[in-house]
Amino acid sequence: MSRPIVASLDLQALRQNLQVVRRAAPHSRVWSVVKANAYGHGLDRVWSALGATDGFAMLNLEEAILLRERGWKGPILLLEGFFHADELALFDKYRLTTSLHSNWQVKALANARLNAPLDVYLKINSGMNRLGFAPERVHSVWQQLRAIKNVGQLTLMAHFADADKPEGIAEPMRRIEQAAEGIDAPRSLANSAATLWHPQAHFDWVRPGIVLYGASPSGQWRDVATSGLQPVMSLKSEIIGIQNLKAGETVGYGSRYRAGEEQRIGIVACGYADGYPRHAPDGAPVLVDGVRTGIVGTVSMDMLAVDLTPCPQAGIGSPVELWGNTIKVDDVASAAGTVGYELLTALAPRVPVVTV
Ligand SMILES: *Cc1c(COP(=O)(O)O)cnc(C)c1O
Repeated sequence: MSRPIVASLDLQALRQNLQVVRRAAPHSRVWSVVKANAYGHGLDRVWSALGATDGFAMLNLEEAILLRERGWKGPILLLEGFFHADELALFDKYRLTTSLHSNWQVKALANARLNAPLDVYLKINSGMNRLGFAPERVHSVWQQLRAIKNVGQLTLMAHFADADKPEGIAEPMRRIEQAAEGIDAPRSLANSAATLWHPQAHFDWVRPGIVLYGASPSGQWRDVATSGLQPVMSLKSEIIGIQNLKAGETVGYGSRYRAGEEQRIGIVACGYADGYPRHAPDGAPVLVDGVRTGIVGTVSMDMLAVDLTPCPQAGIGSPVELWGNTIKVDDVASAAGTVGYELLTALAPRVPVVTV
């Protein structure tokens, strides 16, 4: 590899994060959410490190089939179900559990010719108004499903909009209880935030995603700092150039950053085409030669600049951690006005990935 950038994945951290989830929800089974190519980590690279999970959940049929081809025999849940009726043949072939959130899906399932019934997650709209049936409709959909021979085990499912916020889950839980009244079925409600912070939502299956990868569902690392979670991905590069600025000189496109006095800066082989957020402001945290400092100037496609004032010993070839064990992806994301989810899933295909 010539360009020094690399994303290194700590598979032991992934295993440990699953244990953190188990300790947080000891009475629930765990759907490990591996959508978006395992949150940018690469499903094929990481799934076996999560082999102690009870099931895998994702959106893409292709990803589900990949797991079956790799030999995963346990449950697989498609969180948005099938997108077109003709996919049901593959759900049948690969024994996939489907979410159902719309009438057309109920009809399609009723009309499909399957070898065996499919397990179904009936999705309740808990108030987020994305996918799912309104609480007052759930009972009748439930009855309908009970009468369909293609339907195997039925589970109630919902998702929370604010499980990481002070608003919490009280109102959605009320809507879910309303929907579930008179229905005796397992439930799956909790995302990472509810898994960590709302035990009353754990029920039969939790569905953690982001915490498995060692980032915070609230976007604030301080909220999970004592949880035992370990970052899985470290994005690393090196200093490939040095500039000695005079007072008043600027750095990068748009001359956004201007040195107030003489300043030594380093140029790092990492830019927005690697997945680093272009909106990162001056001062966004970065680790250079083991010392915490900040970026300066607008992030370019292939490079960014860092202040070397706190690390005068750093030079060409000095190691840089963009995010990882010391610089939390949540802290970079929060500086750039986004969340760790977006940075992890946006890791660019051109970045070489190694597992350790
Ligand atoms: C993405 C997703 C999850 C996991 O969310 P995290 O915040 O990453 O834990 C759980 N359930 C559904 C339906 C999802 O789409």
